[in-house]
Amino acid sequence: MAYPEEQGGVPCGFLRQNSGNSVSLDFEPHTEYRFVEQLEERYKCASCHSVLHNPHQTGCGHRFCQHCILALRELDAVPLCPVDKEVIKSHEVFKDNCCKREVLNLYVYCKNAPGCNAKIILGRYQDHLQQCLFQAVQCSNESCRQPVLRKDLKEHVSADCQFREEKCLYCKKEVVVINLQNHEENVCPEYPVPCPNKCVQMIPRNEVDKHLAVCPEAEQDCPFKHYGCPVKGKPSNLKQHEHSALRDHMLLILEKNFRLEEQISDLYKSLERKESKIQQLAETVKKFEKEFKQFTQLFGKNGNFLSNIQLFWKGRRTNTTPTLIFIKHS
Ligand SMILES: [Zn+2]
Ligand SMILES: [Zn+2]
Ligand SMILES: [Zn+2]
Ligand SMILES: [Zn+2]
Ligand SMILES: [Zn+2]
Ligand SMILES: [Zn+2]
Ligand SMILES: [Zn+2]
Repeated sequence: MAYPEEQGGVPCGFLRQNSGNSVSLDFEPHTEYRFVEQLEERYKCASCHSVLHNPHQTGCGHRFCQHCILALRELDAVPLCPVDKEVIKSHEVFKDNCCKREVLNLYVYCKNAPGCNAKIILGRYQDHLQQCLFQAVQCSNESCRQPVLRKDLKEHVSADCQFREEKCLYCKKEVVVINLQNHEENVCPEYPVPCPNKCVQMIPRNEVDKHLAVCPEAEQDCPFKHYGCPVKGKPSNLKQHEHSALRDHMLLILEKNFRLEEQISDLYKSLERKESKIQQLAETVKKFEKEFKQFTQLFGKNGNFLSNIQLFWKGRRTNTTPTLIFIKHS
């Protein structure tokens, strides 16, 4: 057997453990353990009947877990031993380190049996679980709640975990696997989607608009839309429409033509009005030019215009008859 066989032979179990590392040994109380050998009564607490945790012995010779004896004292000012109803006097209670050492050296099976077949001393049980390959551990991907055995963790993280990242086959971006389907169906710009016009082609999502411009099934406007034809259709249907709607298209063109002619005639009229106005203005200008010429000629004969004006005003002030003659031109 992998563990020393001297149960009860040496009372304090010194052979199983040197006292140096006994400090670090401990186990979780309130846990079911499967002992390799049936648990002797003397290792059971007189109160909770589980394996003794930090055993304390009373004056009456019974053993209790530390927390059990504390609980008894808390419950009652004068605590009684549940086995023999003796009063438990605190000064008679002592820490039973000898028993503690023996308990810590009892062999138990790993709880992950039969996967793990380790037999471990109780004091090293927690240490074992920290390394036990069959212990369920938390996946390293934070959102993943799936319990994974330690031995499977590497494989799980790299190949199974729903929260691992994988390259999208289409856009090559890293996507969390659990979102991959949604990414492909709704987000991925490179994911091939069917043509919205249901032509046979599959087109990357971000190229759908480009495709629609050339899609054989895309509806296009009739080439006579500009003339008012509202018909839309696939290229093949439009060809047919152009053929059958020849008369309608001609009428549309005629109507448009008629309206254009009307517009042109309106423009002509407006142009004529403007021309005659220009004519009038030109005549007025001509008249003014003529008058101005006469005016300068007249004043040219009589010398400098300004000096003549001064002369005029001087004459008025001295009451002499001005030599200047004003001619009112007709
Ligand atoms: Zn107890
Ligand atoms: Zn007792
Ligand atoms: Zn194990
Ligand atoms: Zn995971
Ligand atoms: Zn993608
Ligand atoms: Zn198409
Ligand atoms: Zn048309």
